[in-house]
Amino acid sequence: MDEQINKLTSLVNDLLDVTKIQNGKILLNRSEFDFDELVHEVVEEQQMSTRHRIYVDAESIGTITGDRNRISQVMTNLISNAIKYSPDSDKIQITTKLTEEGCAHFAVKDYGIGIPEDKKDKVFEQYYRVSGSKEYTFPGLGLGLYISSEIIKRSGGRIFVNSVEGKGSEFCFEVPKTN
Ligand code: ATP
Ligand code: MG
Repeated sequence: MDEQINKLTSLVNDLLDVTKIQNGKILLNRSEFDFDELVHEVVEEQQMSTRHRIYVDAESIGTITGDRNRISQVMTNLISNAIKYSPDSDKIQITTKLTEEGCAHFAVKDYGIGIPEDKKDKVFEQYYRVSGSKEYTFPGLGLGLYISSEIIKRSGGRIFVNSVEGKGSEFCFEVPKTN
């Protein structure tokens, strides 16, 4: 019951976010926060509700300036997708590092269904879902990555995916430590 309420709440929040994005009203806060602490917090929360084992290889990023809640939302979206789209594997790998340009790099790797080459760019589009898994159906609206990409773009960063169909995916984002 609690889980259903949580799912419904997150669905409603996603739909509200889409309306905000369309009206140019997705406003980001800017404050200093500890990136490493946030990664730890999000992973711990996700780990509590999955049988997948989430491994973390975290290079310390330290303090960054940005919207902590919104970055948390993106991390959560990427990790929950990694879990959802890897039904036959139980390993998720999170990596963080500081790039040469001074960006915080966050990556989530799974060993799941992967994404066909010609669909990789489309997954960030609103309501886009890759269809056609013969064995599984996955619930969802196709909004998580669209919202995530808007948040990352508005944070001055970029989001991208490496994936091989049938082998797995790695979703990454990079945001400037300060901007
Ligand atoms: P929701 O709105 O609940 O997030 P969703 O998961 O379908 O629904 P997105 O998170 O935006 O929507 O993802 C869009 C599509 O990209 C998914 O439907 C799926 O086809 C594909 N996708 C996303 N993450 C992965 C992943 N880790 N592995 C394989 N396919 C993925
Ligand atoms: Mg999703």
